[in-house]
Amino acid sequence: MERVRVVAIVVAAGSGSRLGADEPKAFLTIGGRPIVAVAVREAVSCPAIDAVVVVAPPGDEPRMRRALADVAPEAVVVTGGATRQESVRAGLAAVPDDAAVVVVHDAARPFAAPGLFAEVVERVVAGADAAIPVLAIPDTVKRVRDGEVVSTESRDGLVLAQTPQAFRAELLRRYHERAGTDGREVTDDASLFEAAGAHVVTVAGDPLNFKITTALDLANADALSGGGRG
Ligand code: C5P
Repeated sequence: MERVRVVAIVVAAGSGSRLGADEPKAFLTIGGRPIVAVAVREAVSCPAIDAVVVVAPPGDEPRMRRALADVAPEAVVVTGGATRQESVRAGLAAVPDDAAVVVVHDAARPFAAPGLFAEVVERVVAGADAAIPVLAIPDTVKRVRDGEVVSTESRDGLVLAQTPQAFRAELLRRYHERAGTDGREVTDDASLFEAAGAHVVTVAGDPLNFKITTALDLANADALSGGGRG
């Protein structure tokens, strides 16, 4: 397979307000290590990834460098923005021009295995514009209004999207620029590709690759890390 330059952006500039923590989520520890260090260690363990850009909460750049010192001392640390999208854009600005594929990953998903990074990269190298991991929805899906059920939605064709998401670098830059101009705000980068009619393919996601959002998620991640996976 053709060898192209692949750069990962790990966004870690979120506040973690939904966790009720008084420090940014990325610095909370699981198995004794900052969440961001666990996530970045997995990314740099993937042989397909040549370099990593980590997006830090504004003012926490030195702390981020310290957190990554033993897992990825060569990672480039940049300052994040007020939204995830702005943080991705800040990361993109630090991606070298010769990168052909960019992988965007949430630090809040510390258990994305190196093989999952490799899979999404492979799909883009093989010709897709973007590749994302997805999971089936296990529960029955209801539409509710004012606390009352309106209907039950079919799960047919519905999935849950995860990161890491891999993209053709040139398109990711173009679509982010366009979204900035249009004032369009999205919660994942693949949405920008879908809106542009680009070719977005899926790979099998991993239930262990959950996003740490609540205190329960944090406790589960800590338990899993203590169990040897972290
Ligand atoms: O808040 P949530 O967990 O959904 O955010 C997803 C990812 O985006 C997290 O890794 C978080 O650190 C990152 N993020 C960011 N900058 C923001 C908001 C979120 O880098 N302003």
